[in-house]
Amino acid sequence: MGTQTSKQAFEEAQELIPGGVNSPVRAFKSVGGTPIFITEGEGAYLKDVDGNKYVDYVQSWGPLIFGHRDESIESAVIEAVKHGLSFGAPTQAETELAKLVVGLFDSIDKVRFVSSGTEAVMSAIRLARGFTNRDDIVKFTGCYHGHSDSLLVEAGSGAATFGSPSSPGVPADFTKHTLLAEYNNIESVKKCFADSDNIACVIIEPIAGNMGLVPADKEFLHELRKLCDEHGTLLIFDEVMSGFRATLRGAESITGVTPDIVTLGKVIGGGMPVGAFGARAEIMAQLSPEGPVYQAGTLSGNPVAMAAGYAALSKLKQNGRVIDVLNTRAVRLVEGMRDAAAECGVTMQIDTRGSMFGFFFNENPVKNFNDATKTDAELFAKFHAGMLKEGYYFACSLYETGFISTAVTDEMIEDTIAASKKVLKEITNG
Ligand code: PMP
Repeated sequence: MGTQTSKQAFEEAQELIPGGVNSPVRAFKSVGGTPIFITEGEGAYLKDVDGNKYVDYVQSWGPLIFGHRDESIESAVIEAVKHGLSFGAPTQAETELAKLVVGLFDSIDKVRFVSSGTEAVMSAIRLARGFTNRDDIVKFTGCYHGHSDSLLVEAGSGAATFGSPSSPGVPADFTKHTLLAEYNNIESVKKCFADSDNIACVIIEPIAGNMGLVPADKEFLHELRKLCDEHGTLLIFDEVMSGFRATLRGAESITGVTPDIVTLGKVIGGGMPVGAFGARAEIMAQLSPEGPVYQAGTLSGNPVAMAAGYAALSKLKQNGRVIDVLNTRAVRLVEGMRDAAAECGVTMQIDTRGSMFGFFFNENPVKNFNDATKTDAELFAKFHAGMLKEGYYFACSLYETGFISTAVTDEMIEDTIAASKKVLKEITNG
């Protein structure tokens, strides 16, 4: 299985595009090696420029829950394109997608569409600040909320401190209102509230997917809700990744904790660039043009993207059990991989939520980012390279989540488990 053409393509791209990629994680940096350049996707598979075929467990980092080239999404997009790519004026397609989202999320009365998850979260934070008339925000170490300035804050050591920027180019002044807490640790959140009486919102991935898959404990979320209520602080669930992936009706439907604002992305666009944020009417009324909190976008509510999102969400809604079926496959996959690892003397921590799966080469369960960093990175890199050679495309970073699409069959899952056994044996014997 050669990858010579990908190597050449990467070299050429590096001449013109920083690092050869338009989003850093794609560069295979944390696993070494060269990224695979893709020509097309078909169902469960990705095909690369060298003619190799891979079972795709990345699914464009989440959006493609029905796999590549899903017929109903593809035809909805083609139909929409025939009417024009963008109008910068309202269309009924936006209202139709809004109806679906509002119908699925109890916490959402009104929703606004944007073009990425980053934009959704950035806007939600502004809305929370505008609504509460406060400046500080709390985020959790290891949660990723896109790359807007105030959310690019270095992971702390669990102590609640005012954060410092994790990227050059972000002035310290811009992050001085961002407090850090430790995931699943309510005491660290209490410390934030002790440090500041100016907290507009607490933002959390209720099912974290950016430190590997680390779902928040239910009890922790309930306590978080209580703390927010006591302090008049809004609770934001960032479900850009977990929305429509972990469950159809949001984390609120499986945890019993209702957030004030929800951010969405990925699946909601069916593979097109879409993000969204929604809340109860009273909060959304603060948003321009109804209210004073400014937010806008040339391509927001783009008709082609709305058509793709509508096709994806309506198909999910009609097939209510899809996410459960995918979970059965996800559970089988990670349990099979864990057993294969155990045969080779390797301990794996595994978890799933709906169509999301995660695994760590860790001795102990993972509850927060600090635990996640104990993953055996070298073993992961070898595993990733070995699986790629066998024709299985897993996320090229330790801290990502895997995704199962409806195009992945039970047989593919069994083959993946067999391949993982082979690869782990090779690694551990070598
Ligand atoms: N929030 C979460 C939870 C995410 O997982 C991501 C992207 N992985 C974002 C926000 C940012 O979304 P985007 O990459 O579309 O800007």
